[in-house]
Amino acid sequence: MDFPFPEKITLARTPTPIEEFKYPVLPGEHLKLYVKRDDLTECAATGNKARKLEYLAAAALKEKADTLVTCGGVQSNHARATAFFAARLGLKCVLVLRGEEPAEIDGNLLLDRLLGASIIYISRSQWSERMSLMEEIGASLARKGRKAFIIPEGASNALGSVGYIEAAREISRQCAGEQKEFDYIVCATGSGGTQAGLIMGCRLYLPRTGVVGFNVCDDAEYFQNRITSLISETESLYGVPFNVRPEDISIIDGYVGRGYAINTGEELDLIGDVARSTGLLLDPVYNGKSFYGLLKEAQKGRFTRGSSILFLHSGGIFGLFPKKGEFSFLSSGS
Ligand SMILES: *Cc1c(COP(=O)(O)O)cnc(C)c1O
Repeated sequence: MDFPFPEKITLARTPTPIEEFKYPVLPGEHLKLYVKRDDLTECAATGNKARKLEYLAAAALKEKADTLVTCGGVQSNHARATAFFAARLGLKCVLVLRGEEPAEIDGNLLLDRLLGASIIYISRSQWSERMSLMEEIGASLARKGRKAFIIPEGASNALGSVGYIEAAREISRQCAGEQKEFDYIVCATGSGGTQAGLIMGCRLYLPRTGVVGFNVCDDAEYFQNRITSLISETESLYGVPFNVRPEDISIIDGYVGRGYAINTGEELDLIGDVARSTGLLLDPVYNGKSFYGLLKEAQKGRFTRGSSILFLHSGGIFGLFPKKGEFSFLSSGS
């Protein structure tokens, strides 16, 4: 059956290409590695959030909202992609960002400002009240006769995850065209919507493909529960049963490293090595970590010999710029 896709605004550049990823994960080509280039969904909206926001933006326009309100870290890719959608659709944008206003405006934050978003900085302790803070912003806009549409962090709700049900359908069509089949799709998991959508989409369109997520924050149990509830929310909204239990959700924990958005030297060295040897730029917060995890797990024998793996490049490129001082091989003068 086909999923009853709701309306969307087409702003992402899809289908994104699937390419061979010629990085020697294991000696002797024991794994066939490919990359789904979701970093190419759009320049200012590069990455996975573009697919989710296509659905959320359509809902915002349907409700006649004039402002998109969302939240994230100071270097949030999702916040930057939301600022882009607002600018493209003639809407205003308010971003509630966790952390202090940095002395230097760089990376995603620079683009947020260029795209005209208003920014409110909140402390880490205020973060737990982000939903009520955004609702207050919505209420104060309503008193001025305006209308806010509130998008949760990472655009990870049932409607946002539909973007990755659709991505799985897109992958299945690309596979059918080339008579290819993937054993696994590997992604980074930060708020769960991407993996939830891929799991549902694979059940419908790629039943032989497993979805493996590397969490970049929290832990496996947290995401198994979070993704299960996103899937049941989607089931009840669209009447499609998936019957996924938390234990069916494959999250490989152990690669958060020093913490969310904080890198180890090994992660940054790998980003450099992948860039030099393949030309592919991985971001430090998500893909640098998920690819590091994929490499280590492959070396430990996690994936059956000869498997073919599709690595989802979920974007985030602008997150490299604020890390410029941390790449040790750049300051060694070589
Ligand atoms: C948000 C994000 C992710 C994680 O996706 P979720 O759906 O939030 O789990 C992965 N990669 C990049 C670049 C992101 O911005």
